[in-house]
Amino acid sequence: MVKGRTVLVTGSTSGIGLGIAEVFAAEGANIVINGFGDAAAIEKERASLEQRFGIRALYDGADVSKWEPIEAMVQRAEREFGSVDVVVNNAGIQFVANIEDFPLDKWDAILATNLSAAFFGTRAALPGMRKRGWGRVINIASAHGLVGSAGKSAYVAAKHGVLGLTKVAALETAGTGITVNAICPGWVKTPLVEKQIADNAAKKGISVQAAEHELLEEKQPSLQFATPQQIGGLALFLCSDAAAQITGAPLSIDGGWTAR
Ligand code: NAD
Repeated sequence: MVKGRTVLVTGSTSGIGLGIAEVFAAEGANIVINGFGDAAAIEKERASLEQRFGIRALYDGADVSKWEPIEAMVQRAEREFGSVDVVVNNAGIQFVANIEDFPLDKWDAILATNLSAAFFGTRAALPGMRKRGWGRVINIASAHGLVGSAGKSAYVAAKHGVLGLTKVAALETAGTGITVNAICPGWVKTPLVEKQIADNAAKKGISVQAAEHELLEEKQPSLQFATPQQIGGLALFLCSDAAAQITGAPLSIDGGWTAR
C-alpha cells in the first residue's frame, strides 16, 4: 500500500515519530527522518532503517518551527526520491506552567513547533501531491486537541489549532486524491511524557512508578499507555484505500481519555 512511496515524518529521531517511521519502513516505504539529537545516534538509526527494511532513509535536520528549512527539506526529498507522498507532521514540544507564570518565549516556541510547523509541512508538500493526484497529510495532534488540561495553555491551544488546520486542509483538497487527518493520542510513553512523569514524581516526592500510575489514572481509563507502533498503525491505515474517504477527521487513540 505504501511500498515505494516516500514518507516524511517530522520529529522522528525519538518517540512517536520514530515508531511511525519504523512502521512505514517495514511496509517498504522510503523514509525521510527529521528531528534533533546526537548526530551519531541519528545516523545509526537511519542506517538501521535501511538495513532492517531494505528501503532508503534520508535524514534532514530541518528546524520545523520555521518555513524555509521545511520547504528545503521537502524539496530535497522530492529531488532524492522523486516525490513526497505522505507527510506526518509530528514534531512537538511541551512546557507546563499556569498562564500567569507561562514564559512568553515558551508560548512562542510551542505555537511554532506544534502548530505552525504542521501548516508549513502541509504547505510545502501539497503542490507535489496535487500534481500526482495522491497524498496523505497526517497531523499528530493529541487528546489535548479535543479537551484541555490545566497548566498546558500553549500545548492545548496549539493542538486545538492543529485540528482546525486539518479541517481546512481537508476541505481545500477534497476530491483530489489527497486526504488530511489528525491523530489524537492520549498518553504514549516517550521522552516527552517521561519528563512530565519525572517532574511530577520529584514535585510530589513519590516514585516514578507511582507518578506513572497517577498520570494514567487521572486521564486514561484503560490505565495503559498507547505505543508509538500503534500510532504508526493508525497512520498506515490512513494511507490505505479503505481510508480514502476519511478526511478532515480527528482520530482518537487514547484509551478512553476523551470518552468521558
Ligand atoms: P518526543 O520528545 O519523544 O519527540 C519529539 C520529536 O520532535 C523529537 O524527534 C525532536 O527532536 C523533534 N523536534 C522537536 N522540536 C523540533 C523542531 N523544532 N524541528 C524538528 N524536530 C523537532 O515526543 P513524542 O512524545 O514522541 O511526541 C511526538 C508528537 O506526539 C508531538 O507532536 C506530541 O505533542 C504528540 N503527542 C504525544 C503524546 C505522548 O503521550 N507522548 C500524546 C499526544 C500527542
